[in-house]
Amino acid sequence: LNLQAITKNFFLFLSNNKTLDRLAKRYGTRFGVDKLVGGETFSQAIPVIKQLNEDGLVVTVDHLGEFVESESEARERAQEAVETIDAMADNKLDCEMSVKLTSLGLDISRELVLTNMEMILDKARERGVTLQLDMEDSSRCQATIDIFKQLRAKYTNVGLVIQSYLYRSDKDLDELDEYNPYLRLVKGAYKEPGVVAFQDKDMVDRNLKQLIKKHMLNGNYTAVGSHDEEMINFTKELAEEQGIPKDRFEFQMLYGMRNKLQHDLAKEGYTVRVYMPYGMEWYGYYMRRLAERPANIAFAVKGIFSR
Ligand code: FAD
Repeated sequence: LNLQAITKNFFLFLSNNKTLDRLAKRYGTRFGVDKLVGGETFSQAIPVIKQLNEDGLVVTVDHLGEFVESESEARERAQEAVETIDAMADNKLDCEMSVKLTSLGLDISRELVLTNMEMILDKARERGVTLQLDMEDSSRCQATIDIFKQLRAKYTNVGLVIQSYLYRSDKDLDELDEYNPYLRLVKGAYKEPGVVAFQDKDMVDRNLKQLIKKHMLNGNYTAVGSHDEEMINFTKELAEEQGIPKDRFEFQMLYGMRNKLQHDLAKEGYTVRVYMPYGMEWYGYYMRRLAERPANIAFAVKGIFSR
């Protein structure tokens, strides 16, 4: 185990800590968090999104919060999503929405999450907004895919995320192909055991390239969710080689990460979508970002001491 692996495991462990999560909510978006989060409310994020749009970047927003355990909270969150979609359209933002099904009741009941999603997607369809279902940890993968398929049969404005660290993903792509899905392909952010996921970074990278290639060659719209230049260059070269036009794929990166690369790609004529979280429940999100990249820890520490 090298130092990076130890640090990663430490922050992934912290990301599941309920006490720290509660404390984080009490203290709000301090400690450098505002560099990675668009605001504590969607209204606060609106000017930030407008600025990104003016700079030639498109956006997807994520209302922070996961693992909701009460039915009333899941319903409130669905209602909030509906209002956010109206605000997006009223403000003419070039913006999609990303959602975590656990925040809409996935752990409570299938019926609840479907009712909530249908309410959100009805509004989104009416206002011309697209949604993407984030992928959470592997214990929820099958349920998320099943719900996606059910929704996709009825709505065209819904996409999904597939993670290259999971062994199953290649087969999932084959099974999803008949839906011509809009997929965001990522490496995967959770701590997963060797029985379900590659532990070796090279394998995760290699698999991501294979998934990108397969999905693009299948003719499906592809979002590559990565800050890794190797993945980005691979995608560009593949598109060039295969004559896949720039309006058939896009790059997605997290808000606050690799800003220069985001702008450079947009200037080259690629669609770049910035994933912008907002809300009070930033703790789990932030800890997973620290786990991914030790350099983020340095700027978190700077954030603490600069106030
Ligand atoms: P890494 O493998 O972390 O890094 C590879 C190399 O890229 C690094 O060595 C470095 O050279 C370079 N690099 C990476 N980050 C930076 C940086 N900030 N600055 C400078 N260089 C850098 N995961 C999920 O499990 N479910 C989801 O639904 C999900 N949605 C996502 C949405 C988006 C838009 C993005 C970007 C990621 C999402 N992820 C999601 C997280 C994803 O799975 C990875 O954990 C995360 O993106 C880190 O992998 P990477 O490909 O960016 O690069």
